[in-house]
Amino acid sequence: AAGEAERRRLEPAITRDGVLVQVSINVAGLDDIAGLPVEACDGIGLTRTEFLAMSSIDDEERQFALYRALVRWAKGRPVTIRTLDAGGDKPIPGYTADNESNPFLGLRGIRLSLRHPDRFGVQLRALARAAAEGPVRIMLPMVTRQDEIDDAARLLDRAVGELRACGIAHARPQLGVMVEVPALAFAIAQIRADFLSIGSNDLTQYAAAAARDNPAVSSYADTLHPGILGLIGHVARYGSTGGRPVSLCGDAGADPRAIPALLRAGLRSLSVAPGLVAATKASIRAVDLSQEPEHGL
Ligand code: PEP
Ligand code: MG
Repeated sequence: AAGEAERRRLEPAITRDGVLVQVSINVAGLDDIAGLPVEACDGIGLTRTEFLAMSSIDDEERQFALYRALVRWAKGRPVTIRTLDAGGDKPIPGYTADNESNPFLGLRGIRLSLRHPDRFGVQLRALARAAAEGPVRIMLPMVTRQDEIDDAARLLDRAVGELRACGIAHARPQLGVMVEVPALAFAIAQIRADFLSIGSNDLTQYAAAAARDNPAVSSYADTLHPGILGLIGHVARYGSTGGRPVSLCGDAGADPRAIPALLRAGLRSLSVAPGLVAATKASIRAVDLSQEPEHGL
């Protein structure tokens, strides 16, 4: 079965009843796409930029070169790049606070970026420059409220204005958000953003009150909990109004036990680790959405 899945890796993922599901990849640097044919996927659904060494965080040219390499590899497919998601399980020494009693509930992701607008601006300029070469989508991590998206949009406008004033090639990327904070997920119908991607790793830990990095409670951090599946279904349904794209980029997207439930919850786009594309597509092809689920799937 693994051989068959591997052989069909470049083919689209279509359920037994003919529903097309987009499969994109999660990357954390250029190593992840080395040797990977872009035809295997529908683009990059998540780029984790915490791989940027502290020295690159303030280096626009270095970031631009990296982002541009991803865009060139994708050959016109969307390239989703997440702004720095520092904090929580991704501390960056010298940047994130080291005295928080509860880092997962602290200053992380977009909260931290908005406290450092000049540093955030470096990344936004590098992203807007890469967007001159193909469809870059900027994704904000750990968003809780609309005003964070609006503040980020203003900083993106400023970055674009600076590039224009300097005559540097650029385009304004789409600006979307990760849905990881339960309060945002519940309010999704009222949220304005160009696209949404469910971060099921964090959404699950926050909704189930079970830390993702604590093996003692890993059975509680279960995306298949009916309450969490219901929340994902809510986001898929009310987030996609007006044709707004909704995807999922957490680990559950490549979990063969979760895939049928995620598709039944309404998702039609998953982003997974490059090495799991073939198996994810095989799992999607085994699903029949026209039939009642067997064994609770
Ligand atoms: C997530 O939270 O599901 C996610 C994809 O982001 P990360 O694992 O990098 O926090
Ligand atoms: Mg996350």
